[in-house]
Amino acid sequence: MNISVIGTGYLGATHAACMAELGFDVIGVDVDPEKIDSLSRGELPFHEPGLPELIRKHVDSGRLRFTTDMSEVGAWGDVHFIAVGTPQVKGGTGADLTYVDAATTSLVRSITKSGALIVGKSTVPVGTAARLYDLVQQQKNPGVELSLAWNPEFLREGFAVEDTLRPDRLVVGTRTEADEAKLREVYAEALGRDTPWVSTDFETAELVKVAANAFLATKISFINAFAEVTETVGGDISTLADAIGFDDRIGRKFLNAGVGFGGGCLPKDIRALQTRVAELGLDHSMKFLDEIDQINLRRRKKAVARAFELLDQDVVGKKIAVLGITFKPLSDDVRDAPGLDVAARLFNAGADVQVYDPEGNKNAAKRYPRLGYVDSLTEAVKDAELVVLTTEWNEFKALTPADLQDLVAAKRFVDARNVLPAAEWEAAGWTFAQLGRKFNG
Ligand code: NAD
Repeated sequence: MNISVIGTGYLGATHAACMAELGFDVIGVDVDPEKIDSLSRGELPFHEPGLPELIRKHVDSGRLRFTTDMSEVGAWGDVHFIAVGTPQVKGGTGADLTYVDAATTSLVRSITKSGALIVGKSTVPVGTAARLYDLVQQQKNPGVELSLAWNPEFLREGFAVEDTLRPDRLVVGTRTEADEAKLREVYAEALGRDTPWVSTDFETAELVKVAANAFLATKISFINAFAEVTETVGGDISTLADAIGFDDRIGRKFLNAGVGFGGGCLPKDIRALQTRVAELGLDHSMKFLDEIDQINLRRRKKAVARAFELLDQDVVGKKIAVLGITFKPLSDDVRDAPGLDVAARLFNAGADVQVYDPEGNKNAAKRYPRLGYVDSLTEAVKDAELVVLTTEWNEFKALTPADLQDLVAAKRFVDARNVLPAAEWEAAGWTFAQLGRKFNG
């Protein structure tokens, strides 16, 4: 079976390499020639553990190729995955579907092999698959049989290869048994390991993805709403999370209070879901997600407020080290990243911000070129009046007071991810603040 993957970003490049690893012949297609050039050389233009090795392996084996030319896959592919971006629309809160629409249209026009299946993987508003199904039927070439299915993706950046090769579930929305059977063939390896297989209609498949992200965002904002309370009345947010997390109906995962969620998925997906549901006339059903979003955004402001408190409300000209700029560890993705937002706010308030992130500096510098970027933790904290930890990379989680005390100008620390032992830092003479803990100065 020949497989094409349209869109070779975080999702598509991973999916293409993993399909090759499963034994298929794969072509990845993208409109970005630079991305295609570097992937064709076996190089990954972004950071994802384990993925460069997999891409190189299969570019070398000849099982994986990349092109900007859609017509190469039209006469060749049996299954075409659509993995292009669905970002937040500029100036609004809905999903921008122009990439999905353009990719589908150009793919359909290029397909000459009858019986091919187009499979959407991008995260889309409910109703998109049905609309694209009709578009495919209207625009397919004469004499060519074509169908469409939806197969949302749940991979986590940082664990993308593992999640693709060993998914915790597979969800497929199809309109015919033949389409489902073809997808069972694609995923035969995972099905052989009894991976749960959820076969359903288009609407459920689309909604499963956004429901999962809405739930995760809700869990994070739920604990962060309690963090707002413990910051005021006292109490320990981590103990509270542990205690409710012992109840396995609740679970401890995603209950870490801190500077909140970000990235290219959760924030835009909850906004797109609200927008879509409102378009459908259900103004109230997803209204709570607006509050989830607001709680999340308030956490960024709170981290900045903590920095101000530690510097006696005067940040102008003060050197502040910001540790971690990606939206989460093991990724170089800075889309809607809380750490970058915090760094930019401090910079805009007049601070001399020095950012260090193990993987994210390059992407962050494209967005905020005026912040200071340095290549090591030592450079960032050297002579700093304040250190702010915003992404919980292992390198930062392992920090001890002794590592920093001779480098900084003043022993002040905001741990905006609540990952360091506060008592130990305080005992070592640091003015140490976290989110979700009362700060007495
Ligand atoms: P991305 O921006 O990294 O990649 C999108 C790619 O699509 C880009 O390389 C872009 O050049 C390409 N593209 C745009 N228009 C095209 C066209 N007409 N033809 C061919 N290629 C085109 O985005 P991503 O993070 O990979 O996300 C893709 C989709 O997957 C989104 O809907 C996202 O919500 C979803 N998703 C992402 C993740 C994740 O962790 N990144 C996880 C699950 C689902």
